[in-house]
Amino acid sequence: MTPPKKPGDAAGHRLRAEPWYLPLGDEIEIFEAAYAARLPVLLKGPTGCGKTRFVEHMAWRLYRQADTERRTLETPLITVACHEDLTATDLVGRFLLSGDETVWTDGPLTRAVRSGAICYLDEVVEARKDTTVVVHSLTDHRRLLPIEKTGELLDAHPDFQLVISYNPGYQSVLKDLKPSTRQRFVSLEFDYPSVELEAQIIGHESGVGAQDAQRLALIGAKVRNLREHGFEEGVSTRLLVYTGQLIAGGISPRRACDVAIARAVTDDREVQQAVADIVDVLL
Ligand code: ADP
Repeated sequence: MTPPKKPGDAAGHRLRAEPWYLPLGDEIEIFEAAYAARLPVLLKGPTGCGKTRFVEHMAWRLYRQADTERRTLETPLITVACHEDLTATDLVGRFLLSGDETVWTDGPLTRAVRSGAICYLDEVVEARKDTTVVVHSLTDHRRLLPIEKTGELLDAHPDFQLVISYNPGYQSVLKDLKPSTRQRFVSLEFDYPSVELEAQIIGHESGVGAQDAQRLALIGAKVRNLREHGFEEGVSTRLLVYTGQLIAGGISPRRACDVAIARAVTDDREVQQAVADIVDVLL
């Protein structure tokens, strides 16, 4: 017997404390203006560069600015990590068995549409193609969610906003974002920060001192330059933060760079050695 499908890693964020976010450009102003007009937003950029943290920060910020009626929302941000088995049903909802009866249960997208939360579909191109239908109906002027299984045509709550993310680096012909979908979103492009800003992020997030943070940011920049030598991925800000956390936890900087950068970014021995050489020079 096949196990029941995972309904997507939907997480409702209570956002009690401010998610710290260091702006890299005008993304906060753009997002605020997009939200004011309830325009859907696409966050484009490589993995681990701050997209999720940005949405969490914006949800917190907009929730704080909202009138008291909206502040009763239990979860102002609902995040779904999309994966290749994720279907429209996982997003919208399904009938579940409860005792002798079947009871309708809203999926994460429907919960957001009903309650007026921000719904963040992370890595949306990973999901099954049938999710496009619901995304499209919510992103044109109708702002409707058709719930096929119950026959309901749900009008989005006035505060609902759809945010999706997409990593063009993973792009394959099969998994590209279709123009018909892409052209429904305001697109904010993210990239890894400058050395100076990345050092601030690493310092804040990991607790290492300013000097170590600066070194890790420089290592990050140099490792990303290896991309020109056929190494595509680079290293994410997330991994540099992990490296800092290991150092702050007492691991030697060299060993921390080995396990959280060199071995984390590639299995290719030559590239691992190239990363180790960069670390040797900069530490
Ligand atoms: P993505 O969603 O792009 O894969 P995340 O938002 O999860 O990446 O970022 C990974 C980590 O990097 C975050 O948890 C945070 O520690 C850090 N980070 C990256 N950019 C920023 C930023 N501009 N401000 C604050 N933290 C950041």
